[in-house]
Amino acid sequence: MIEKRDFYINGKWVAPSAPNDFNVIDPSTEEPCAVISLGSQADTDAAVAAAKAALGDWMYMPAAERIAYLEKLLEVYNTRGEDMAQAISMEMGAPIDMARTQQFGSGSFHLKNFIRAAKEFEFDAPLSEKFQNDRIIKEAVGVAALITPWNWPMNQITLKVGAAAVAGCTMVLKPSEQSPLNAMVFAEMMDEAGFPAGVFNLVNGDGAGVGTQLSSHPDVDMVSFTGSTRAGTAISKAAADTLKKVHLELGGKGANVVFEDADEKAIKRGVLHMMNNSGQSCNAPSRMLVQRPIYDKAVETAAEVANSVTVGSAHDEGRHIGPVVNEVQFKKIQDLIQKGIDEGAKLVAGGVGRPDGMNRGFYVKPTIFADVNNQMTIAREEIFGPVMTMIPFDSEEEAIEIANDTVYGLTNYVQTQDGERANRMARKLRSGMVEMNGASRSPGAPFGGMKQSGNGREGGVYGIEDFLEIKAVGGWAAE
Ligand code: NAD
Repeated sequence: MIEKRDFYINGKWVAPSAPNDFNVIDPSTEEPCAVISLGSQADTDAAVAAAKAALGDWMYMPAAERIAYLEKLLEVYNTRGEDMAQAISMEMGAPIDMARTQQFGSGSFHLKNFIRAAKEFEFDAPLSEKFQNDRIIKEAVGVAALITPWNWPMNQITLKVGAAAVAGCTMVLKPSEQSPLNAMVFAEMMDEAGFPAGVFNLVNGDGAGVGTQLSSHPDVDMVSFTGSTRAGTAISKAAADTLKKVHLELGGKGANVVFEDADEKAIKRGVLHMMNNSGQSCNAPSRMLVQRPIYDKAVETAAEVANSVTVGSAHDEGRHIGPVVNEVQFKKIQDLIQKGIDEGAKLVAGGVGRPDGMNRGFYVKPTIFADVNNQMTIAREEIFGPVMTMIPFDSEEEAIEIANDTVYGLTNYVQTQDGERANRMARKLRSGMVEMNGASRSPGAPFGGMKQSGNGREGGVYGIEDFLEIKAVGGWAAE
C-alpha cells in the first residue's frame, strides 16, 4: 500500500505535527490503496506562515519571471502523465484511458492557456489615453487557500494554482481527502519546477479540519473553492469574520434543451456527455428537456444509448465508465434513484443496484428517467452520478422557464438548427455558461456559475483576474 503521510510546506516534505492516518479507498475494489495524514491546526499554521513569508518576493517579481516558472511546470507536468493518470484512476475511479486523456489533459490545457493569457495580460497600465497620470495596478490578492474536490482533480488544481501563481499569490492547497494522491504528484512537480520555497504548499485534511482552519485563518487573504454548495456555504461563513475574498465554483443542474429541429446526434451526444466521468461533473447536462413532437423517439434513443454504456473497473483499459468515487456518493445516488421511482418518474434504463455481475466496487447503472417533472427531487438535486432525467416541453418560453427553475446556474445546453433561436436562448438562460449544438467553449473562455453555482470565473484571463486586486494610483509620475 502507498504511504504518503507528509505535507509539502516551505519547499520541503515534512511529517504532520501529530499522526492522524486516513485511508484512501480505491472505488473499483473498495479496498484501501493508500494511507495519508489529515493535518491539524499546527500544520495549517505552518503552511500559511510559509506562504505569507514568501509573498513579498513572489508578488513583486516581474510577471515574466512568474510565467517562466509556470512554463517550467508545464514541461515537468508533461513528463509525469502516466504517474498522474494512475493516481487519479486508482483513487477516484476514472477509467485509466480516460484518466490519461481527459483528466490528465485538462491540466496541461489550463497551464498552457494561463501562460498564453499571462503573457498578454496588462498588470499595470494608465487609466486611459487621457488620464496618463492615473495608474491602474493589478496586484496579487495575497495568500490564497485552494480547496479542491475529487471529481476532476487536475482540472481544478491547475485552474487554481496556475492562475494564483501568475497573479503573484502564494498558496496553500488542500485537495480532497478522497483523492489526495494526484495532488501530491502535482506538489512533486511544483518542487521539480523549482518554485521558490513557500510559494506553493500542500496540506492534506478534511473539511471540518484543515478546510475550516484555512477558511477562517487570519493570514489567508482569499479562499478559492470548488465543490458542493453545502461546503461553499460553510466556507463563506467561516471566512466572514476575516472578510476574505471567497471565490466559489459549486454544483449544477444543467438543462439540455433539445428542440424538434435539433441535429440527429443531439440525444446521443447529450446522454454520453451525462455519463462521462460517471456523471460526476458539476456541468453535467443532467436535465434533458425535449420538445414534445420528438419526445417519445428521444426517450427511446436515450434508453438505447444508456444501455450501450458499459461499466467497469478503472484499472481496465477501454471506453467504459468507472465506479463513482466512494460509498457515501454510491448510497446517495442509489437513494435518489429510488426516490425518482417513488415520486413517479418512468425508469427507462438502469435503476437501483449494481450492474449485472458486479458485487463489489461503487458501480452505478447508467440510468435514464423519462416523464420527469421539474419539481421532482431528481430534477432539483445534483445527483452526481450517471443518472439523467427527461422532461417534455412545448414552447421556447416553457423551456426557458423550466431550465431556469433551479437554484443552480452553471451550464445550460441548447440543441437547435435555428441560429436565431439558439442565440435568443443563450441570452435568456440564467447560467454562467451556455453551450450550443455540441460546441464547447474555446481555450481561455471563463468557467463559472451564477446563483447557487457560485461566483468565481476560472481559466484564461478571467481566472487570473480573480486572484488580483485592483489598485488605482493618482499622480503617477511620467516614466
Ligand atoms: P465537498 O464539497 O464536501 O468537498 C470538496 C472539498 O471541500 C474537499 O476538499 C473537502 O475536504 C472540502 N470541504 C468540505 N467541507 C468543507 C468545509 N466545511 N470547509 C472547508 N472545506 C470543506 O464535496 P464532496 O463531499 O467531495 O462531494 C459531495 C457533493 O459535492 C457531490 O455530490 C456533488 O454534488 C458536489 N460536488 C460538486 C463539485 C463541483 O465541481 N461543483 C465537485 C465535487 C463535488
